[in-house]
Amino acid sequence: MIQIEGINIAVEGCFHGKFDDIFAEIKEIEKKKQIKIDLLLVSGDVQTIRNKHDMYNMACPQKYLEMGSFYKYYTGEKVAPCLTIFIGGNHEASNYLRELHFGGWVCPNIYFLGSSNVIQIKKGQTTFKLGGNSGIFNNYDFNIPKLECFPFTQDQLHSVYHIKQFDLYKLSLYEGDINVFLSHDWPLQVEKHGDINDLIKRKKHFESDIIDGKFGSISHKYLLNKLQPNFWFAAHMHVKFEALVQHQSNKKTKFLALDKCLPGREFLQVFTYTKEGLDLYNQFAFNNDPIELFYDPEWLAIMKITFNLQQIWYKMPKLFECNYAQKDLKIIRYQKYQQLLQAKKEALIYFKKEPIKIPQNFQITATPYFKNDHTNKLILPNKVLLNNQMNDYLKLIKESEQELNGFLFYESQQQQNKEQKNQFHVINKIETQIKKEIVKQEILNQLEQQQKQQKKNDNMNIQDFPFLQ
Ligand code: 5GP
Ligand code: MN
Repeated sequence: MIQIEGINIAVEGCFHGKFDDIFAEIKEIEKKKQIKIDLLLVSGDVQTIRNKHDMYNMACPQKYLEMGSFYKYYTGEKVAPCLTIFIGGNHEASNYLRELHFGGWVCPNIYFLGSSNVIQIKKGQTTFKLGGNSGIFNNYDFNIPKLECFPFTQDQLHSVYHIKQFDLYKLSLYEGDINVFLSHDWPLQVEKHGDINDLIKRKKHFESDIIDGKFGSISHKYLLNKLQPNFWFAAHMHVKFEALVQHQSNKKTKFLALDKCLPGREFLQVFTYTKEGLDLYNQFAFNNDPIELFYDPEWLAIMKITFNLQQIWYKMPKLFECNYAQKDLKIIRYQKYQQLLQAKKEALIYFKKEPIKIPQNFQITATPYFKNDHTNKLILPNKVLLNNQMNDYLKLIKESEQELNGFLFYESQQQQNKEQKNQFHVINKIETQIKKEIVKQEILNQLEQQQKQQKKNDNMNIQDFPFLQ
């Protein structure tokens, strides 16, 4: 047999908390093909629920609210059989993913790519760049400030997974070659580049949107044209679909959407990415080198030059013009964009010095679900102010949490009600006083006092969550 050098990759559609089932399928493929899968890529709706609190922080019809099997991977009772990397969809433990907004390990061996990101993956001589954009597009929330705080209100529980202009802007500053890109929703009109009739035959209810040219996300259409990756993997529509997009530049993107994990459904695709950048489907790599993740210097430079913009989230001007008639989206404030591209070049000099490995810095930060707990007792959020992984990332790019504008706070419900008149109270306070530590302590004290007073909280159940009623 010819020895191919490369990375054996499995791609999955929607996870929907089925960690045990999907990993069992991976092991089955490994046994059948006598190979080792090096990497599993997942395009959202993963549902990394650690405990009941996370479960109630997921937007989902009540009847589908299930603990799933993630908590076993969180505690270390079980371990993913291969390195797994995912982006977020529209059904996620949004509070947990918010803690790892710029990317991080949700448990050993499972990495959340973040709200938007580009990283590098290496195994032996083979290397590729992986990009991704979590969430789905929603016209109304595209330009809103990213101020979803814990606990989420009903609106925030949904707006938190809607794609924001800021993430799209960061990705649009990326000029390097991205090999693989992950999104949950499909790029608008991508179906035109595949067997559209067959798709309609299989999914009749897509027909009117397809005819109206409204099928998929306008922001992903923009990114597909802008980044022109070699591969684009998506999910959300619960159907397998392939397309080949030919760009004006003559580059091509192979698009593949996969189904969700159900018996008899096409939810997994396995292929080998070779060191020559080819994709093979019936030959697999047998080199045993370890697979490693690295930060991408260009992305770090983009993080650096855009970081202070986060301070103006709630008054940020529109960065894109959406032309819905033309089904197109374009950058406005072009001069500012050009300036940022220039600034990126300078920042790159600093980050290009040496490849930086993504650290194995996962720590348990919340009380995991205990499977013998048959009560409906809610586990209150731990006082996670800043996840240790977020802290490490900020140190890496030499930025402080100051600019995060307080969006990582667990804000007490009572305080939120009290301050409804001025919902940016905490943020303004931080901005004007620049005494975040004091504000932080204040919130903590209040939260503590409330917890002491309100014994009721210990017995919270579904009724205590306004967004589920
Ligand atoms: P989810 O699993 O995220 O709750 O729901 C995904 C489902 O929403 C898909 O299976 C698909 O049927 C439907 N859906 C999502 N986006 C569109 C769209 O743009 N048009 C149509 N017709 N259905 C959509
Ligand atoms: Mn979905």
